[in-house]
Amino acid sequence: MKRKYVEVWENCLNVIRDNIHMQSFKTWFEPIVPIKLENNVLTIQVPSQFFYEWLEEHYIVLLRKTIKKELGPDGRLEYSIIMDSHNGPTGPLSISYPTSNHKATKNPYVSMPLDLNRGTSKDIPNPFIIPGLKKIKVESQLVESYSFDNFIEGECNRLARSAGWAVAENPGKTAFNPLLIFSPTGLGKTHLAHAIGLQVKTNFPDKTVLYVQTEQFINQYIESVRNNNQNDFVHFYQMIDVLIIDDVQFLAGKEKTQDIFFHVFNHLHQSGKQLVITSDKPPVELKGLEPRLLSRFKWGLSADLQMPDLDTRVSILRRKLYSDGITVPGDVIDYLANSITSSVREMEGALISLIAQSSLNKKSITMDLARQMIDKFVKNTTKEISIDYIQKIVCDYFGLPIDQIHAKTRKREVVQARQVAMYFSKKHTKSSLATIGLQCGNKDHATVLHACKTIANLIDTDKQFRGYAIEIDKKIIQ
Ligand code: ADP
Ligand code: MG
Repeated sequence: MKRKYVEVWENCLNVIRDNIHMQSFKTWFEPIVPIKLENNVLTIQVPSQFFYEWLEEHYIVLLRKTIKKELGPDGRLEYSIIMDSHNGPTGPLSISYPTSNHKATKNPYVSMPLDLNRGTSKDIPNPFIIPGLKKIKVESQLVESYSFDNFIEGECNRLARSAGWAVAENPGKTAFNPLLIFSPTGLGKTHLAHAIGLQVKTNFPDKTVLYVQTEQFINQYIESVRNNNQNDFVHFYQMIDVLIIDDVQFLAGKEKTQDIFFHVFNHLHQSGKQLVITSDKPPVELKGLEPRLLSRFKWGLSADLQMPDLDTRVSILRRKLYSDGITVPGDVIDYLANSITSSVREMEGALISLIAQSSLNKKSITMDLARQMIDKFVKNTTKEISIDYIQKIVCDYFGLPIDQIHAKTRKREVVQARQVAMYFSKKHTKSSLATIGLQCGNKDHATVLHACKTIANLIDTDKQFRGYAIEIDKKIIQ
């Protein structure tokens, strides 16, 4: 005989299947496993937090109705979320229906480690007061999913990653103090910073770790001045064993906060505590920061993160899909990794948009959908640049009909346009000289080589020509 909970869930699925598109059903409902039915509460297992949030956001009404229909007005649904094994099992997350606008996750960036906004009401203790020598419990503000396991290693991050790992093994005891991680936005600084914090907590459960965004730090300081408890503020920060401060460039121009941070920094450093700092620039380029602070940033190690190469980008996407429990065809993953070279965040954003597009418009995730989505939704992506495309830009620029490039003519302006097209084809495509020649008026590779040299030479020596070349180049990569 079928177990009751399996049957109940199957009945629910039958209703759901009739009400949503097949593709959405496959993506969001097939992976769900019913686990138990107790006291009119049905527990279902979902592959990830993301999955759960998606269901709550898009299918809550349908789920509520279905559960009511199957289990009566008191029927409830609970989710159990599969987590990576090393994060430990999670208890089922209880959501009863009918629910209010329940939000499962608390945004880690909203909660403050010290709630300075609570004011000084009598029955709420001052959060800064340290009771005797006992350590107060500090909310670390770390995001579980930003772990080392989820941080894919590549040439692009090798130094920063291994320094981060070393720090987590031995906080405050390596030469990497402070550890400063820098890169343009979206390349993994925040992720790596959290990973270090999480790993310290795994290795040393008694150490007090705090992740704080620089803006939070600034606001807390301003608030402490307003409440006249700067000393408590400083004492609190001086208690931390591993202080992770994210996006330190925001301290620029904030002299008072820099002053306080300088003291906190010195105290922690002198007491052998670890500092991890991230910034969008290397220390030498950080403007608006006091020299004495900058010089301290240089005491330890500064390591940068770069844009991951193609293979690493593919691995990052796969890892993300794996932890979200979603399947996407391999060619689509390759396409996304190939098309988006601006930042990891953009690439992940494109993946999420694609999943959303497919679900909301009831289309399966195919290459076509991926192409449309990339064209429409993703800014700053590099198009695939073809020789044809370059010829078109060049001819448009010089006001020539495109067929002239292929014609057997020796007119000066045509010859030069052809040479320019060859030069940029060499620069922007992976085509061989022979292929470029073939497509630009059926010339041989020696002609292309000669063209490339001639144009490079002109760019070097002729200022006006250089101006043209820069403009064409811009149009090509636009
Ligand atoms: P930054 O702080 O540099 O702006 P984030 O740390 O916020 O960048 O990274 C942006 C997104 O890219 C995050 O979702 C992060 O998990 C992901 N990411 C970046 N680098 C990697 C990597 N090497 N492996 C896995 N995910 C990464
Ligand atoms: Mg960041």
